[in-house]
Amino acid sequence: MKEIILAKIGEVVLKGLNRKNFEDLLIKNIRRKLHPLGAFEVKASQSTIRITPLDDDIDMDEAADKVGKVFGVVAYSRACAVEKDIETIKKAAVEYLADTLENARSFKVESKRSDKKFPYGSPDISKIVGSYIADEFPELEVDVHDPEVTVTVEVRDLAAYVHANALPGAGGLPIPSGGRAAILISGGIDSPVAAYMMAKRGIELTAIHFASPPYTSERAEEKVRTLLEIVSDYAGRIEMYTVPFTKIQEEIKNKCPEDLFTIIMRRMMMRVSQKIAEQHECLALITGESLGQVASQTLGAIACTDETVTMPVFRPLIGMDKKEIIAVSEKINTFETSLLPFEDCCTVFTPRHPRTKPKSDMVRKAEACTEWDELIEEAVSGAKCTVIYPK
Ligand code: ATP
Ligand code: MG
Repeated sequence: MKEIILAKIGEVVLKGLNRKNFEDLLIKNIRRKLHPLGAFEVKASQSTIRITPLDDDIDMDEAADKVGKVFGVVAYSRACAVEKDIETIKKAAVEYLADTLENARSFKVESKRSDKKFPYGSPDISKIVGSYIADEFPELEVDVHDPEVTVTVEVRDLAAYVHANALPGAGGLPIPSGGRAAILISGGIDSPVAAYMMAKRGIELTAIHFASPPYTSERAEEKVRTLLEIVSDYAGRIEMYTVPFTKIQEEIKNKCPEDLFTIIMRRMMMRVSQKIAEQHECLALITGESLGQVASQTLGAIACTDETVTMPVFRPLIGMDKKEIIAVSEKINTFETSLLPFEDCCTVFTPRHPRTKPKSDMVRKAEACTEWDELIEEAVSGAKCTVIYPK
């Protein structure tokens, strides 16, 4: 009995001309993800990707976990592959799923026959396999409406597959089907979640982090790298650009009105980010802002921030409550790291009373106090690249 993994592809994207591209990317991403574990054959057939280990000593728990983190996989299950023979199939179901069936109260069998030469139709397969399971596990009840375990039998081109409840996959679309965008990443809770959410839609990420030494420490930067490492478990390799932001922040502090420090700082961040993003062929910026969360995230402040750039700015958390954002950060495992107490450049020179409804013309006037272009260029050209890989 050979164990494999079956990964289901989202239905929507299977339509039309995109199908082949989508499948090819997904297969490539699954292969890359599984590469450290050994050799696999990864093949698509009929909205399913079949992943077959080619070495004997492969850790299938780990392999299944990894498949579950690839965007584009909506569900996955471990399955046993057997000869297309009804006697073999029913015995395999009992043997392969013994642990699951022993611990369950109810079950049903669902069958799919895509090999039309197989002599039994789907309802017959379910009936034969179902009654054999019921005989072998007399305590187990049949429940066709709400079973604890659904045993699935798929009779396909090369073999028959038997598996139980599929697990939900990461969903979304395979990277980089959505193109490339730049995530402005801090060490907070929100921006790593925003990065994950856009990667889920197939976006390949470039990361930009603003550091203001000596006001911010090397450990704050290290924290951001750790967060990106966790995100890259889903998003793949990420290039991170660390921007020296001290001079711009000091200039703001020395020359601008205090109640506008934050909004002007955010406008500078956007200007620098757009330039870095353009250098690396990103088509959009991404931030972790959520409407109304803090003074710089009111609609007025956001409008005033966005007028400094021409690229689209994605804010995937805009309509989410903090509690909902935390739930995602716990799911993707960034929450605990985000809580580590290192200062961010946003918390340096925080005004006592930030203006919540900044007007563009007022901010533009305040910005006219100095010449920013050179400082912006210096920040852009001083950005240092670190390449982040999943652990
Ligand atoms: P986060 O939890 O992501 O820090 P936040 O709710 O604390 O977000 P702010 O600190 O106001 O909000 O930052 C808003 C957004 O600006 C962040 O989500 C992030 O996209 C970007 N940002 C903030 N600080 C930095 C930084 N040091 N480097 C890069 N981007 C930053
Ligand atoms: Mg923050």
